[in-house]
Amino acid sequence: MSNIYVIVEHFKGQVEDITFEMMGKAKELGDVTAVLIGAKDLASQLGGASKIICVDDPSLNNFNPEAYCKSVDAVVAAGSPDMVLVGNTSMGMDIAAGLSVSQNMPLVAYATEISSGSVVSQLYGGKMNVESSVSGACVVSVLAGSFPADAGRSDGSPVVEDMAAPDLSGLSVKFRKLIEPEGGDVDITAQEVLVSAGRGIQNEDNVPMVEELAAKLGGAVSCSRPIVDNKWLGKTRQVGKSGLKVKPKLYLALGISGAPEHIEGMKDAELIIACNTDPNAPIFEYAHYGCTADLFDLIPALSGKM
Ligand SMILES: Cc1cc2nc3c(=O)[nH]c(=O)nc-3n(C[C@H](O)[C@H](O)[C@H](O)COP(=O)(O)OP(=O)(O)OC[C@H]3O[C@@H](n4cnc5c(N)ncnc54)[C@H](O)[C@@H]3O)c2cc1C
Repeated sequence: MSNIYVIVEHFKGQVEDITFEMMGKAKELGDVTAVLIGAKDLASQLGGASKIICVDDPSLNNFNPEAYCKSVDAVVAAGSPDMVLVGNTSMGMDIAAGLSVSQNMPLVAYATEISSGSVVSQLYGGKMNVESSVSGACVVSVLAGSFPADAGRSDGSPVVEDMAAPDLSGLSVKFRKLIEPEGGDVDITAQEVLVSAGRGIQNEDNVPMVEELAAKLGGAVSCSRPIVDNKWLGKTRQVGKSGLKVKPKLYLALGISGAPEHIEGMKDAELIIACNTDPNAPIFEYAHYGCTADLFDLIPALSGKM
């Protein structure tokens, strides 16, 4: 049976969903060891693993890529796993690349499917899938939203092992402070209904019609990153990897293609409805309902203007 290590991603005292996604998939492939750096108190959330290896040290209390890479490297060197799963996230990408170099293990990034012997990666924002054959030990970085997180949650009783931290003196990267995103007029993470605008809305003059629809549905407007980059809406409305994670009861995606960085922020919405003129847009892989209508026809119809 394969020995799979899952590098636990955590932030502000919570294990991130990507960890549970990876643990669920890893359980299908072999025996799961969770590698928990700098947060031993979170071990109780990792009942889905057979074993948990904890490394703790004051330098690991906050994410520091250099210190985390050294620690993960020490754990992997001692255990010789067949595969190491890391989130393809801002934190995980630092670890995956460093580990690949230090352990001389190939890295397969942007993974959306893993089986014994092959990994499928999603490239160019979902426009292309690449299947890689893997033999021998490797590092795989997994895109958020690829696997169900619930499959990795369980209340089992894994063996918990402590491992001494490697020498973390003289780090060249120092944690200074956590800069929280600025507060906004509306907290989109607390909304039950979000009407989300993507680049398909074409220009700033069309934002008010989306706002009007959101108000009619009793919700708020959110958006993809290009809308913020163009300054049509503020940063506090951005959903995704470099924006906010939302879990509304309804997420209505209008003219959003469904790039992995966007999906990461909204995949857990209870009901996702997408409108996109391109029937091959990746958003339809995540939407519970979808239509290929033109959003400029759909919005007036939903707002009762037709
Ligand atoms: C490190 C990094 C972090 C990132 N973080 C984020 C993030 O937090 N959030 C985020 O959203 N993105 C993020 N991105 C950007 C992301 O990769 C995509 O570029 C972005 O999500 C695309 O936004 P979009 O879907 O609105 O635009 P596009 O990809 O251009 O899609 C527009 C869609 O609108 C459709 N459309 C056009 N006209 C109509 C119409 N009339 N009716 C209906 N549909 C129409 C098109 O078919 C198309 O699918 C990040 C990228 C990187 C590299």
